[in-house]
Amino acid sequence: MQLSIENVSKTYSNGVRALDGVTLTIPTGMFGLLGPNGSGKTTLMRTIATLQDPDEGEAYLGEINVLKEKDAVRRVLGYLPQDFGVYPNVTAQTLLSHLAALKGITNAGERKDVVEALLRRVNLWDVRTQKLGSFSGGTKQRFGIAQALLGNPQLIIVDEPTAGLDPEERSRFLNLLSEIGENVIVILSTHIVDDVAEVCSRMAIIKEGRVLRGGEPQRAIDAIRGKTWKKVIDKNELPQYEAEHHVISTRLRAGRTLVHVFADERPDPSFDEAAPDLKDVYFITLSRSNGAPDEDSVFPANAHVTTTDGSSGGKGNGR
Ligand code: ADP
Ligand code: MG
Repeated sequence: MQLSIENVSKTYSNGVRALDGVTLTIPTGMFGLLGPNGSGKTTLMRTIATLQDPDEGEAYLGEINVLKEKDAVRRVLGYLPQDFGVYPNVTAQTLLSHLAALKGITNAGERKDVVEALLRRVNLWDVRTQKLGSFSGGTKQRFGIAQALLGNPQLIIVDEPTAGLDPEERSRFLNLLSEIGENVIVILSTHIVDDVAEVCSRMAIIKEGRVLRGGEPQRAIDAIRGKTWKKVIDKNELPQYEAEHHVISTRLRAGRTLVHVFADERPDPSFDEAAPDLKDVYFITLSRSNGAPDEDSVFPANAHVTTTDGSSGGKGNGR
């Protein structure tokens, strides 16, 4: 099973073009949809989840025409929305059982078993009789995953699930997600680069409704190896460096500023080679779309991305 999204566009009534010709092929496994706030992630996720229609384009989940056969999609879909709200005065067990009934698990005995198995799987069994309103952010998100797993979905969409979680909750949540992502399609929409770096085998970077890059995170990192340079400077030197170099990122370190620079060659002997990571890939990709000078061919300006073979720049979308 794979999800093919073909040339999907959406302009809201206020004139915002939230999606602009999005083409993506998403296979089984953990897929990271990475982009800054406002880049169109939620619009794309809601479209795939059959909650809203695009103006143009098509999407297929295996043989299912996503935009036309909505009921068929919903039968195999698990969705954790960005603004997942719970009834605060209901217990985890009661709400999950209720949602299971809505999902069509009408046999009471079967429902009890399914609910128990899911609560154990997301590690909420011990707190099943506590009210959801008393849960921490991370616990609530694990409940969110439990409800998304009802009915053994083939496609699981989680939209910004780690925003607001503390580091321990976040790591626990990501581990849970990657266990699930082995045999089904999991789309993790996020603005947090580390979410993708830690658990996703494939990704796409989206900005202003356009896919700028796709493929495997590791290949994207390898593509800039030997081209990222670092140097510690004084904060007040930064404007000069920004004028003279392609500064990828800056980080304060003990009162000094560590700059990462992107360049084919070492800019001068005062720079050290930096080991590139996905954050470098992300910031280079985003800056490219601002019309930054084209210093290499690693990031084609208007890549139409297909992710089936990890390559970028292709036009195909074999489904
Ligand atoms: P993301 O999830 O990446 O933050 P969204 O899909 O929520 O991005 O939003 C993409 C763009 O569309 C933003 O500019 C946002 O303000 C706009 N937008 C989102 N939903 C609506 C809506 N219902 N009406 C008008 N504009 C919207
Ligand atoms: Mg969003």
